[in-house]
Amino acid sequence: MTVAVVGAGLTGCLLACYLARRGLDVTVYERRPDPRTGKPERGRSINLAISERGRDALRRIGLEERVMADALPMRGRMIHPVSGPLDFQPYSHDGEMAINSISRGALNNTLLDAAEAAPGVKVFFGHRLTGLDPATGAMTFETADGPVETVADVVLGADGAGSAVRGQLLAHRDIEESLDFLDYGYKELTIPAVDGEFALDPGALHIWPRGTSMMIALPNPDRSFTCTMFWPTGGTGSFASLSSPAAVERHFRANYPDVVPLAPTLVDDYTHNPVGLLGTVRCAPWQSDGRVGLIGDAAHAIVPFYGQGANCGFEDVVVLDQCLDETGGSWSSALPLFERRRKENADAIAEMALDNFIEMRDKVASPVFRLVKGVEHR
Ligand code: FAD
Repeated sequence: MTVAVVGAGLTGCLLACYLARRGLDVTVYERRPDPRTGKPERGRSINLAISERGRDALRRIGLEERVMADALPMRGRMIHPVSGPLDFQPYSHDGEMAINSISRGALNNTLLDAAEAAPGVKVFFGHRLTGLDPATGAMTFETADGPVETVADVVLGADGAGSAVRGQLLAHRDIEESLDFLDYGYKELTIPAVDGEFALDPGALHIWPRGTSMMIALPNPDRSFTCTMFWPTGGTGSFASLSSPAAVERHFRANYPDVVPLAPTLVDDYTHNPVGLLGTVRCAPWQSDGRVGLIGDAAHAIVPFYGQGANCGFEDVVVLDQCLDETGGSWSSALPLFERRRKENADAIAEMALDNFIEMRDKVASPVFRLVKGVEHR
């Protein structure tokens, strides 16, 4: 039985590890070059909060310790008002409960190493899926050496929110898809280490709630912080409205005054880092004839206000593995069962993430509670 996993992101790599454990012959196809050998894309580092949901999936396959070696526990949230003292709010009474900050790149690399080392797994980089016949599993990939054609018994699309596998299902099969983009985006900024030390408390998730905008900062092992600022993409009071270095500096001095002295590259980051889009992907069905399936963001990308996208992708992998167990390894039974078990949950978390965003944007009277609520779930 041959399985093709399209996409060597977080979900695809973990999926390959789980499928290899079942003794399957797994080939992973990734459109990018090997991320372990290249330079990361500017302003797209993204650090994630991995919570118990995701850790459970890693633990079940013996990867938790390796992943957690690169993670920093955040035992509470630190609220930064425009003026006045900081407010630390622990996640539990005993101060033990934590969510874990980890760079998406570091996590991806650890999972790639694990997938490549798993018996029966091959990984091909520089392979962009451009064609798929869901009836036969025949695939076409664009590579630097021209098109490559291949076939697999089962094809799993773990190729993210803009999934090409989903696109091919849309082209060949009766499936429904909706893509809802917010009019908000995000931009990354950096708070570097000061004299080799963290500039802020590394044991907290830092939040600057500002009504129509919000910034968060998560610690990195190199003692820097990656800040993510959420703001509308256009109009007055938006990323587009700050059109000069002086305007950027003025805005931050007025709204995020404590960040300015800690972020020497603020204006450069703001000017050169891209604005990322935020959206929700819903589609159904997630599979075709028990031969082609969607998983992770490819099936259900969500906005990040609950910090659960990757955690949900990891949980998908556990549930698909359980479905294969329960159906004696029959893909034609397991894929529909997987969809029945997961779709409702994926729809629920998508709504919850959006609700939190809408509360954040519209009900600015008590922004602190509402913004905080959205980024710290188990
Ligand atoms: P992706 O990470 O998108 O991986 C898809 C892979 O497929 C990529 O490697 C891509 O190159 C490859 N690919 C795409 N098209 C093709 C093709 N045609 N052929 C071959 N390969 C292809 N989640 C959390 O759990 N906690 C958080 O705190 C959190 N914070 C976030 C903050 C921000 C700002 C954002 C944007 C997201 C956040 N997320 C968070 C969500 C998380 O990043 C995603 O849910 C997760 O990366 C999805 O993993 P994936 O493997 O399903 O998809």
